[in-house]
This record gives sequence, C-alpha cells and structure tokens, in this order.
Amino acid sequence: MEAKEIRQRFLDYFRRKGHVILPSASLIPAGDPSLLWTAAGMVPFKPYFTGAAKPEFRRVATCQKCLRTQDIESVGKTARHLTFFEMLGNFSFGDYFKAEAIAMAWEFVTKELGLDIDRLWFSVFEDDEEAFELWCKMGVKPERIVRLGRDTNFWEIGVGPCGPCSEIYYDFGPAFACGPDCHVGCDCDRYLEIWNLVFIQYYRDEKGNYLPLENKGIDTGMGLERVATVLQGVTSPFATDLFRDIVAAAERELRSPVPNRRVKVIADHVRAVTFGVAEGVLPSNEGRGYVIRRLLRRALLYGVLAGREEPFLGKVAAAVCDKMGEVYPELVANREHILRVIRAEEERFLGTLSQGMELLNRNIEQVLARGGKVLPGEEAFRLYDTYGFPLELTEEICAEKGLAVDKEGFKREMEAQRERARRARETVEYLGERERFYRELREEKGSVDFVGYEQLNTRSR
Ligand code: ATP
Ligand code: MG
Ligand code: MG
Ligand code: MG
Repeated sequence: MEAKEIRQRFLDYFRRKGHVILPSASLIPAGDPSLLWTAAGMVPFKPYFTGAAKPEFRRVATCQKCLRTQDIESVGKTARHLTFFEMLGNFSFGDYFKAEAIAMAWEFVTKELGLDIDRLWFSVFEDDEEAFELWCKMGVKPERIVRLGRDTNFWEIGVGPCGPCSEIYYDFGPAFACGPDCHVGCDCDRYLEIWNLVFIQYYRDEKGNYLPLENKGIDTGMGLERVATVLQGVTSPFATDLFRDIVAAAERELRSPVPNRRVKVIADHVRAVTFGVAEGVLPSNEGRGYVIRRLLRRALLYGVLAGREEPFLGKVAAAVCDKMGEVYPELVANREHILRVIRAEEERFLGTLSQGMELLNRNIEQVLARGGKVLPGEEAFRLYDTYGFPLELTEEICAEKGLAVDKEGFKREMEAQRERARRARETVEYLGERERFYRELREEKGSVDFVGYEQLNTRSR
C-alpha cells in the first residue's frame, strides 16, 4: 500500500467515525514561542487540552508535518528515526475516551490496514488496568501486552493536563533482535513503535498532585513512514515509496550504489530543510534558522566525505519537491526559492568546510601519530567556533578514524566562551551606564569647558 493510500484511508476511516478532517498546520507552531517546531500532531491543539481555548470541533483527525531535532543524530543509525516525518492522529477534546480510542485503533490497524495480528505487541502504562483490559477485550493475548514505566508511557508537560500512554508495536522478528535481553520498547530495530495513544485524564497541579479531569481527551500519533515501512514489506522508511526517488537522487549525487548511512542522512536532512525553507525559515545562527543550517551542513558534509566538491543538495531537494509537492503545494509554490537558499548556503559553507576538514585531518593525524585515542576538546571547539562544525559532526568524522572526542573539554571551552561573552556584555552595559551618567550630568549642569591647561583648581574640600 502506497503512502498516499495510507494517508487517505486513515483520514477516511476517522471521518466515518465522526471526525472533522483538518489540514496539516504549519511546521512553525502558531503563537507558541516556547516551541521551535511542530513535533507532534497534538501541537496545534495544545490550547484545547490545557483549556486555554475552546475547540470548534470535539473530534478531529489530521496528517501533520512534524520536525524533531532531538532525533537528528539517530537518523541512519536506528532504522526508525527521521527528522521530518508525517504524523497521522485522531483527537478527542472532551468527547470519546479510552474505550473508543482503543477500539478504533485496533479496527484501523487490523481491518483497514490488515496488519498481521501475530506481529503486533502492545504497551500500557504500568498501572493502567483499564487499558490492559480493553486490549484484552479486543482479542489481544495478555502475554502480548507489556507494562512500561513513566519515562515512555506517561505524557506530561509540567503543570497541566497529562495521562498514561499505550502503544502499538510491530515485531520484525528475532533476526532483528539486539541480543537475549531484547524487549518491546528496546532501542534496537526489532520492535517498531508505530502508534502511540495518549489518554489525557489527569490535571497535574503545582504541588504535583494528579487530579482527575472532568473533560478527558485523546491524542494519538502514528508515524506515516513507519506504517508504510511495515505495509510495504521493507525494513526502513528509506525503502518506502515516500523516499524512493529522494534516495535515488542522493545515491546519484554520491555515486553510491547502495543507500548507506550517508545517503540516508542526506535524503532525510534535505527533506526536512526543504519543508522548513518552504515555510519561510532561512539558515542562520540561532533558533529555527540554526536547525536548518545544522541540517544543511550535516548533509553537505556527508557529501564532502563522499568526495563531492561543489553544491549538489539542490538535486535532492528538487526530488523532494517532485515527490511531495502533490500533497504539500507549498513545495511547488516555493521550489525556486528553496533551491536558491540551499545553493547559497552550500556555496557559503563549502569553502569553510574544506578548510575545517584540512584542520581536522591534521589534528587527527597528530593524535594518531602520538598513539592517542581522543581529539582534544579545544580542537573540537575551534572547529565549531571558527568553521561551524557541530560537535556531533566532528565526532562522526573522528569515529571513522577510530578516535573519540573529549566532550568534557569541548563543554569547558563552550562555557569559557559564554563567560567571555557575558563579561563583554557587562562591559558594554557598564560603558553604557557611565555614558548615561555623564549625559545626565551635562543636561543638569550644562556643558563645561576644560580649563586645566590655563589654571588649576586650588579650592580644597
Ligand atoms: P520512538 O520511541 O521510536 O523514538 P516516540 O515514542 O518518541 O518514538 P511519539 O512521540 O510517541 O514517538 O510519536 C508518535 C509516533 O510518531 C510514533 O509512534 C512514531 O510512529 C512516530 N515518530 C516519532 N518520532 C519519529 C521519528 N523521529 N521519525 C519517524 N516517525 C516518528
Ligand atoms: Mg522518540
Ligand atoms: Mg517511544
Ligand atoms: Mg511514543
């Protein structure tokens, strides 16, 4: 089943179940400066859950564009993480609750998608008996339901609405296990979390008490790329129809016959950048712009490591626009702009990048020559500060030569720099203070002439 059909089936199913289908909101959260990006389907609906706003509809379903910076370094390492992805979700704002949410998720996964029940596993929050019973009622064998703790299966954001989660996993089989201790919720590639159901049933107050909510809510999220992976009988989102042409473009540019890690990182990062720039974000040194810059520079670096010496990411971005433009017309409308922005950043960074690479290679040789195993933190910091190398990039290049990076040393340098910046700021503020004092003095006393060359003040106090 192609991704397009999965999207459609999901939205059609929940429409039939009385949900209003809303278009994806922006990747940039509206009116929420605390968030850099929309990282989940519920983000646009946060005010409905916190009670800050009244919902127009009580049942809603969406396919939401998401971006997660916390997963940047996992891309190409785990089989399941992307930075940009689409999240399918159904929501209840004080309407249906746990029983209906579980029944619909079960029906959608087993009937609409026709997933093999023998491959499915379920998780519930450790003491959520209700969820456990409800899955059993669907016909799930109790031994297929695991109880997980607060770290993964309880959703909360400080004071406010919160509640337990329940997840659906797909089992790729023992061949994918990381070892004898492999289990549901483990970080390896055997059990793939495809759907997360959050039961918003408490309000956490300032004192940390969990008070039952009168208007309970449902927030679910299912990763489109992950479901497509399962339904298309492949083991990575990069092998699905969503990525096929994008990966092919990256392979062509890297002259790589296989989708290795470099190809995957480039395909993923360029897809995220394309969507980010389409929403008006430009590469810069802070906030969202820095995320875009970091993604672009990482992608470019992987190209340089594969021997590319001139801009090439535009070819990959064009493939993203071609593949995704039908569903996301902003990619078509902004295509030229996106390609221009990417090219300008590539041109800006390529020079610095090769200088930085030369320096890093020299450093690595020196460390190896003296039989060392660790690149000093100051060197990693210099690469960061002068050449714009994110730390994890330096770490990756070092790892290829069998070296680690002194992260503590890097952090110390970073701190020292912050301290210098702070002092510089204070000095400026201090100077400002002094200037203000003299300005006020002049306003009060009027301007004065310096007469010290002609006469001395002999009056004493
Ligand atoms: P994981 O444990 O695999 O990191 P998660 O628990 O962080 O996933 P949720 O926050 O529960 O994920 O998001 C809901 C769903 O969104 C997940 O079940 C998954 O299908 C999808 N998803 C989450 N993060 C990613 C990602 N980085 N790339 C692709 N899909 C994702
Ligand atoms: Mg995660
Ligand atoms: Mg998880
Ligand atoms: Mg989850």
